[in-house]
Amino acid sequence: MKQGGIMARSMFWKVFLVVLVLLLTAVPALASEPATALDSLKQQLTARFSGRKPLQWGETVRGVRTRLDTGEKVVALTLDACGGTRGNGVDARLVDFLVRERIAATLFVNARWIDANPELFRRLSANPLFEIANHGMWHKPASISGRSVYGIQGTKDAGELVEEIERNARKIEALTGKRPKLYRSGTAYYDEVAVEVSNALGHEVAGFSILGDAGATYSAAQVKAALVKAGPGDIVICHMNHPESGTGAGIMAAVPELRRRGFRFVRMSDYPLK
Ligand SMILES: [Zn+2]
Repeated sequence: MKQGGIMARSMFWKVFLVVLVLLLTAVPALASEPATALDSLKQQLTARFSGRKPLQWGETVRGVRTRLDTGEKVVALTLDACGGTRGNGVDARLVDFLVRERIAATLFVNARWIDANPELFRRLSANPLFEIANHGMWHKPASISGRSVYGIQGTKDAGELVEEIERNARKIEALTGKRPKLYRSGTAYYDEVAVEVSNALGHEVAGFSILGDAGATYSAAQVKAALVKAGPGDIVICHMNHPESGTGAGIMAAVPELRRRGFRFVRMSDYPLK
């Protein structure tokens, strides 16, 4: 009897140990699955673009879409939310105005801004007026060779660019259920190979045809003057993270005038791009 009891106990411990080992190996494997997939995506695209030497560096390099492909009286208002120490703000008056006046807009949202404003992000992404687009994980200029602009270091290679785009795309998809289709880099600077990398990740690169607030440095009068020049298919770039700037007041002044002239506001994905 005593012998049988010991055998049963030793069998129990054997089974217990096997189950424990299975759990310990299975849990980390499950937890690291998305990271592994990102690593293999990085390797794949690094290999695909290796040896490419970019020739262009700017806001309108080959492949950047700067207009809606239409003759209709529509304008795409795009608003960047850049995040970071001086970029996590919210222009609440502007956001309230867009919601109240039912102005569609495309919101280019950086991961750091999402983390700083989770509740507002949830509310904006649930509103069908707004399209959520990708403004990068760390707000870096999109380079495959580490070029800089305005003293800001770009991504150092194709692999880092993949992380810059893909990490925020996955973050947005996890929070909203929708993967973004449009990417605008921090500073809106690219080389032409970086644009191809973005395309390979399922993102069109969103440029602009109207500089609406010059990095949120324009006065309200300057913003209004820039916006009322809009014609069919123009894409306006402004910011929604600088309540202290002239951006909000300028947009609020320009919208009624554009509407009087028969213009409608649309999201970028409502039209093909060119
Ligand atoms: Zn930005």
